Amino acid sequence: MSRNPFDLEDKVAIVTGANTGLGQGMAVALAEAGADLALVGRSRPEETVELVEKAGRKAHVIMADLGSLEPVDTIVGETREALGGLDILVNNAGIIRRNDSIDFTEADWDAVMDVNLKTLFFLSQKAARSMIDTKTRGKIINIASMLSYQGGIRVPSYTASKSGVMGLTRILANEWAGHGINVNAIAPGYFATNNTAALQADETRNREILGRIPAGRWGDPADLGGAVVFLASRASDYVQGITLPVDGGWLAR
Ligand code: NAP
Repeated sequence: MSRNPFDLEDKVAIVTGANTGLGQGMAVALAEAGADLALVGRSRPEETVELVEKAGRKAHVIMADLGSLEPVDTIVGETREALGGLDILVNNAGIIRRNDSIDFTEADWDAVMDVNLKTLFFLSQKAARSMIDTKTRGKIINIASMLSYQGGIRVPSYTASKSGVMGLTRILANEWAGHGINVNAIAPGYFATNNTAALQADETRNREILGRIPAGRWGDPADLGGAVVFLASRASDYVQGITLPVDGGWLAR
């Protein structure tokens, strides 16, 4: 065994929504730490494949729309077949819909809850069954949000889903720690990605947000690398059920 507790040499990781943004940043960090990657999503992750291969690791693409549970069964099986196992699952894919709560539609409620919470739960269940069957020390990492802690405005289904992610992270840690599986979450602060494009473009909101971040800048996807490698590695074997903020100090204000 490597003496470096953060080493992921020859581990196999699934990252959902890895074609862009935070998913791409985390996939590349895991590859640089030694993991092979199954990249799962509905858009082809060409650039991420290139970056993973440049880091000297394998990238296997699984095209799947995570708005329904239909692909969940095949994702874990295909990863094991293509890459020889499954050690790490990063539930990153997520969407946001913005509207006043007074006008919010059922369609905008269901779309967000399905991807951000329902699929996250059932993909975690499938991955955990595989880890238990193969007696693998597994790591499941969920992507939460500042809105796991705060209410936000005009994003009711997003807040409900991300608050749910923090709760699910705790219950799954409670139930699966005994099987040698660590379940934890990362709560990114404000990162410059497609998800926050509307906020970055709104001069007033942009100024308000930057004014509250002690680090004085939006996060870059590479800023999540250390946290995801930590939670994916044996360095975090005794860390269970936490949601780790990576937020430039936002919550400290
Ligand atoms: P992003 O650039 O919009 O990326 C979201 C990813 O999820 C994309 O790969 C997207 O694929 C994928 N996805 C969405 N719906 C999907 C579906 N039905 N099936 C398969 N894949 C789907 O946003 P991001 O900022 O990187 O977000 C990544 C995660 O971080 C999300 O869970 C988000 O809530 C969370 N987060 C972001 C921030 C932030 O400041 N950016 C802060 C806190 C939490 P497509 O490209 O095909 O849409």
